[in-house]
Amino acid sequence: MIFHRHFRHSVPLLAVAGLILGTWACPLPAADAPKPDQEPPVVDPGPVGGPPADAIVLFDGKDLTQFRGERSPEPKWKVEGGVMETTPGGGLFSKEEFTDCQVHVEWASPSVPKGSGQGRGNSGVYLMGRYEIQVLDCHSNKTYPNGQCGAFYGHSAPLVNACRKPGEWQSYDIIFRAPKKLPDGKVQPGSFTVLHNGILIQDHIPVGEKSTAAAPLSGLVEKGPLYLQDHGNPVRYRNVWVRRL
Ligand code: MG
Repeated sequence: MIFHRHFRHSVPLLAVAGLILGTWACPLPAADAPKPDQEPPVVDPGPVGGPPADAIVLFDGKDLTQFRGERSPEPKWKVEGGVMETTPGGGLFSKEEFTDCQVHVEWASPSVPKGSGQGRGNSGVYLMGRYEIQVLDCHSNKTYPNGQCGAFYGHSAPLVNACRKPGEWQSYDIIFRAPKKLPDGKVQPGSFTVLHNGILIQDHIPVGEKSTAAAPLSGLVEKGPLYLQDHGNPVRYRNVWVRRL
């Protein structure tokens, strides 16, 4: 009888706890997600690696017109041979702002590695200027797990180390859902899913209000720019595009 009474009161509590945990672990899909009987629109995927026809191309090898500089209106990165390279004058912010999106970036750390730990080929891809997927040469280079290559910096280590050798081109494919403020003031967490060189390294990891430490931007907002970090190491980028989700 005592057990029965206890269990009866536990059911609603368990249901509420389950709802809270479920909301945290499984952010809701975008409001415009297609219905089961709705025919999906056609998208021309373009060449392997993209950009697809519906992508916003931020860098196609020609110029930096889609970016502004971190410390100057004009971006200072070097563009040569279809590739852009960090310079010590600060990172790049995309002029366009994004919320939920899919991002493709190709990058390469210096072919002759210099430094160690966080000082070796450090850069980063920041969603909304706040949440960093770390770029770092982690081929034969150790650092703390939630700061290594492919980490959601300061939050989540990658599932595996999928780094190629220094100087070789690598890819990130990132699915980002932004955290959102609900009408009742609570925050619905977003999420990161990331493939590094085609390998799953972040699997639907929650993204809350807390930005990456020392991110150039912070605070919960509706949208924000893509930011590519200058961390004092010459890291190259090419083929950068974004699809709004
Ligand atoms: Mg970094």
